[in-house]
Amino acid sequence: MDLLHSGADEEFRAEARAWLTAHVPRTPLPSLETEEGFAAHRAWEAELAADRWSVVSWPEEFAGRAASLLAWLVFEEEYWAAGAPGRVGQNGISLLAPTLFAHGTAEQRARVLAPMARGEVVWAQAWSEPEAGSDLASLTSRAVRTDGGWRLSGQKTWSSRAAFADRAFGLFRSDPDTPRPHQGLTYLMFDLRAPGVTVRPVGRLDGKPAFAEVFLDEVFVPDEDVIGEPGQGWRIAMSTAADERGLTLRSPGRFLASAARLHELWRERGGPADARARVADALIGARAYQLFTYAAASRVLDGASLGPESSMNKVFWSDYDLALHETALDVLGAEGERAGSAWAEGYVFSLAGPVYAGTNEIQRDIIAERLLGLPKGRR
Ligand SMILES: Cc1cc2nc3c(=O)[nH]c(=O)nc-3n(C[C@H](O)[C@H](O)[C@H](O)COP(=O)(O)OP(=O)(O)OC[C@H]3O[C@@H](n4cnc5c(N)ncnc54)[C@H](O)[C@@H]3O)c2cc1C
Repeated sequence: MDLLHSGADEEFRAEARAWLTAHVPRTPLPSLETEEGFAAHRAWEAELAADRWSVVSWPEEFAGRAASLLAWLVFEEEYWAAGAPGRVGQNGISLLAPTLFAHGTAEQRARVLAPMARGEVVWAQAWSEPEAGSDLASLTSRAVRTDGGWRLSGQKTWSSRAAFADRAFGLFRSDPDTPRPHQGLTYLMFDLRAPGVTVRPVGRLDGKPAFAEVFLDEVFVPDEDVIGEPGQGWRIAMSTAADERGLTLRSPGRFLASAARLHELWRERGGPADARARVADALIGARAYQLFTYAAASRVLDGASLGPESSMNKVFWSDYDLALHETALDVLGAEGERAGSAWAEGYVFSLAGPVYAGTNEIQRDIIAERLLGLPKGRR
């Protein structure tokens, strides 16, 4: 007996599975971190959206299916089990969209969400700066008031996929004279091709160019692109961060599928003596993460917010992904080192997991202080 899923969820699962079986490309798309792959993934977003599979949990008026959070988790399980392409629209869909649902205006939702769902406008997250990563509140990029809007200046960095994306959302210092750095920040959306914006690609470890730093020189942004009240950016950004670390960035469906593939690989190849136990750990870990996430989702459905508990998800999924890929490479032996293999690419990307979405050291501090009630560490 399944305590979690209703008959309706299972019908939804069957419908999603049938659609994915008919539509998932038979050969994997080129990497979305390249120009060609980016275009191919955009087209895939449009194909998903045409049959309303792009944003299943959004209201129907914004191209969704109004699916519940639990149904969305079901969809994710089917999506990754089917080997469907990575989501190039992810930053927009899982970070900006929940922020707009919670803090945006009706006009912003009407203007931004449907083109995002169709992959016509792909969004980049422009939060980090050279001197503001973990300590995000120390950011110095400015938003200065002007007629009808704001002028943005400064530098953002480590912006995933910004080299090929269309627009970005980020935090800017609109009042430099506040007593605390978390105050006086404003959350804005801007066009990556607007006059005054320079996007400079940064090569990743695997040589792919989609990562970028973004330079802004007096870039005009109209008032309609401010999210929430000017000066309230920090509070709004923290709700985005909980989404990023918690449910939406790495759903358990992805790890259930990866663990099943690792299991398959190990059954075919064997591997070093400890591989059996490590594969078992991967299978158990994916299931544990699934149950943990369902518990969190149930709490959210009961009206709770994700809050600092999302830091536990973040630490878990990033450590898990790394261990899973290390096991796969050990099972493959020398062959695993071959550049271009999916396991090798996945391994290189998993190395970044403990860094992006807030480093694991920071997450552990949050868990220690806000969940366990331990005293503040020395900074
Ligand atoms: C693959 C990847 C994709 C990314 N994508 C984006 C993106 O799309 N948009 C975006 O805005 N940013 C993005 N980032 C940036 C990412 O959010 C930052 O790298 C991250 O927040 C860490 O900041 P930093 O690199 O400046 O490191 P720092 O903050 O300088 O940290 C360096 C080290 O010091 C540790 N440290 C710092 N402060 C403390 C403390 N108080 N207590 C304990 N340890 C501490 C950190 O944990 C880390 O180990 C991405 C990063 C990566 C690797």
